[in-house]
Amino acid sequence: IYGGERRNSRGVNLHVDADLAPLLTDLEKWAGTRWEAGPIIAGVKRRDGDQQEVRAPHDQSRLVGQVTWAGEQHAREALDIAHQGFEAWNARPVEERAQCLERYADLMEENLEELMAICCREAGKTLQDGIDEVREAVDFCRYYAVQGRARFGQPIALPGPTGESNELYMEGRGVFLCISPWNFPLAIFTGQVVAALVAGNAVIAKPAEQTSLVAGRAVELMLEAGIPGDVLQLLTGDGATIGGALTPDPRIAGVAFTGSTQTAHVLNRTLAQREGAIVPLIAETGGQNAMIVDSSALPEQVVQDVLHSAFASAGQRCSALRVLYIQKDVAERMETLLAGAMQELAVGDPAFHSTDVGPVIDEEAQRGLQEHLSFLEKSGRYIARTPMPPTCQSGFFIPPSAYGIDSISQLSKENFGPILHVVRYAAEDLDKIIDEINGAGYGLTLGIHSRSESTAAYIERRVKVGNTYINRNQIGAVVGVQPFGGRGLSGTGPKAGGPHYLLRFATERARTINT
Ligand code: GLU
Repeated sequence: IYGGERRNSRGVNLHVDADLAPLLTDLEKWAGTRWEAGPIIAGVKRRDGDQQEVRAPHDQSRLVGQVTWAGEQHAREALDIAHQGFEAWNARPVEERAQCLERYADLMEENLEELMAICCREAGKTLQDGIDEVREAVDFCRYYAVQGRARFGQPIALPGPTGESNELYMEGRGVFLCISPWNFPLAIFTGQVVAALVAGNAVIAKPAEQTSLVAGRAVELMLEAGIPGDVLQLLTGDGATIGGALTPDPRIAGVAFTGSTQTAHVLNRTLAQREGAIVPLIAETGGQNAMIVDSSALPEQVVQDVLHSAFASAGQRCSALRVLYIQKDVAERMETLLAGAMQELAVGDPAFHSTDVGPVIDEEAQRGLQEHLSFLEKSGRYIARTPMPPTCQSGFFIPPSAYGIDSISQLSKENFGPILHVVRYAAEDLDKIIDEINGAGYGLTLGIHSRSESTAAYIERRVKVGNTYINRNQIGAVVGVQPFGGRGLSGTGPKAGGPHYLLRFATERARTINT
């Protein structure tokens, strides 16, 4: 159950010229492509519905594709079909379901450049993020295939003290609704869907409005890999319309959701209030993630890990570092080093190999982050801001920025972008800041930089999070290696890419035979 002989995919090393050059040439072929997506119901791509243009977040003049948005009628049709398709799929041997996942993983690798190109143009992903995105999606498939075989292959034989034979086995629950975010439009989309499928469920996949194109392409590949058209349905479009039509229906046997804490609460309430079966909600939400740096930490390493944790992917990761705590004695020096390093980051077109930080996802995100920067300009202490080239005017860019604040409690919400808050703390206040971090109510990632093992162990024990990273960056959990997910306002668990994830998508049965 811990992954067996499976190996994670290797991706492409952008630092090796011999690998980079052909990748850039292949990506170039997709440069002018306009993709098209829409609901896929019973294996058929639909074009009946409102049409929405997709424009690149880094350059609004650039048309990337067109999406048909599903209405309530599409949602009802998708549910009817998935409900019918469930039983036969659930009855198939897990080996067949697992092989579909592995074929889909192979197809993603074969279509790496196209998938990267869509991630880059639709979601503003840099080349490195595009590679990581496809790798993670591939790894989820192969990992859950192994997990599926281990969990669903053989029943567990149980004692039969009275001479009866007893077994425990797992099966799918029914139709799972998988609602995924735009920040990992292929990886998280894939992870939720394939976990539900390999466990024997039929799936209705609802990708974020902003990233329907990559989801559409992913579902085409899943169908090509052998997932039946009556088992997997895709609904592109407005979350409130589709969620509103589906979640109250008792035929929805579970919901997997990654997105905002607020939407998770709405889903939770809807599921709790409806009549009929009581079903699981698997929610992976936000974080107000901290890193604590004491005076024994290595400054250069801290700066490198802070830059990566706070600004990679334009800070648009739930795991990203938001509040950096630096012990007072070393704060001045670390902030100076950090400010210097921030001047070197390259902000711009995500398709350029040299770009470190791409755009944020859309105008609404940009506006919210700009408002937060205005708040920090008034009530924070300016530390640094990365210069932006004039070309950034045409898209939704936010410069990586760092401000000093007094306490995490000044932050009323998660600010999902490249904005870092720095709190200086006195050594004797360690417990106070830990209480404040816990008091924010989230519990996703925690970074610790310290050369004192006992200090690191103490902080780890006291700060209540799902993923702790010591003396390194705190993003980019690897499938099967760093199972990912939090607690409190950050979600319900189980951890994605971990050995217990599939279990929540399944229901347990015990069989007793009087022999
Ligand atoms: N798993 C990702 C990471 O470790 C974050 C996922 C998310 O942002 O939802 O960075």
